[in-house]
Amino acid sequence: MFDHHCTVCDRRELIYPTQITGLTNTDHGIVVTFTCWCGAEQTMVTGRHAESAAAVTLAA
Ligand SMILES: [Zn+2]
Repeated sequence: MFDHHCTVCDRRELIYPTQITGLTNTDHGIVVTFTCWCGAEQTMVTGRHAESAAAVTLAA
């Protein structure tokens, strides 16, 4: 369980494991795909490379 700021409904919500739809291991860390309470698909990068991935996302 973790908290996430949804880019669609603009709310900070707790995301439960049952909402997670996918996990993808990338060079930037683990990309977690999940469905927000509003129904929007969201992603979050976690793992030890998450910080650099966030920087890449901001630069893009
Ligand atoms: Zn949402």
